[in-house]
Amino acid sequence: MVSTSNDIPVIAFIGAGNMAEAVLGGLCNNGHPKSNLRFSELLDERRNFMSEKYPGVFSSASNDQVVEGADIVIFAVKPQVLRTVVTGLAPTLHKNPSALLISIAAGIETSAILNWLDAKDYQAPLIRIMPNTPALIGEGATGLFATSVVTQEQKELTERLLGSVSKILSWVESESLIDTVTGVSGSGPAYFFLMMEAIENAGVDAGLTREDAKALTLQTCLGAARMAQESEDDLTTLRKKVTSPNGTTEAAIKSMQGANIENILRDAVFAATDRSKELA
Ligand code: NAD
Repeated sequence: MVSTSNDIPVIAFIGAGNMAEAVLGGLCNNGHPKSNLRFSELLDERRNFMSEKYPGVFSSASNDQVVEGADIVIFAVKPQVLRTVVTGLAPTLHKNPSALLISIAAGIETSAILNWLDAKDYQAPLIRIMPNTPALIGEGATGLFATSVVTQEQKELTERLLGSVSKILSWVESESLIDTVTGVSGSGPAYFFLMMEAIENAGVDAGLTREDAKALTLQTCLGAARMAQESEDDLTTLRKKVTSPNGTTEAAIKSMQGANIENILRDAVFAATDRSKELA
């Protein structure tokens, strides 16, 4: 393993798309030395764009070149190409068995990756993570699963690295719970976008300008989430506190409960969880 003189890990990203950029950008903002960051990217246009945006970060079209001597390798390609990427990198990774491997690919189990790695005489330390798109603005929520050989130190290192883009980092004990994380937070931003769309449209239908309806909706969603995070009350108590008997909020809540909103959202989370299991 090649470590830097100051013991800051060398991190190699395989694929430099949206998620890789979120993490790489977060690390740069947090002062991770650029000389300790590398990425490989197949598309010339994307590689050139990223090189110009992050000068000093080593880039290459060759996955092997960036992985050689890296302390941490982050697989940030689409799930469909992960098999080709891992099998192609296996000989180089075999020469660097202590490198910590982190996979962002949705729906790909760690057993499949270890299988593709085809390492006979060692088991690579491998962490699977499920981030969500708000990571792109440093507000992500991420679920993580570590294989049995991953050390506490490697887990803490991963938390420090991902802490630059994710506010919440939850380790799950069983890998199947990553599917549940997908159902709750991985796909979750879209649920809130849909609800905000509906509330904004209702505001417009009831006479507000589009601009006002949108601004009021977004800030209400943000304010509610921030309040729930900062309050010691649970969500039910918070809801009851703003729901006066016979008041306006009660009228709205009754309308939503009449349409069985709790079951609709529960079914949605389970549908995403089940789909994630099917894709695995
Ligand atoms: P993306 O398409 O933006 O990035 C993937 C990059 O990999 C592309 O730039 C592509 O050119 C490059 N690439 C493809 N094949 C390559 C190869 N053989 N070698 C090197 N580079 C190669 O995708 P993304 O949205 O950043 O997603 C990356 C991973 O993150 C996916 O596996 C996805 O499942 C996972 N993920 C994404 C989200 C999300 O919300 N975007 C959430 C959770 C997990």
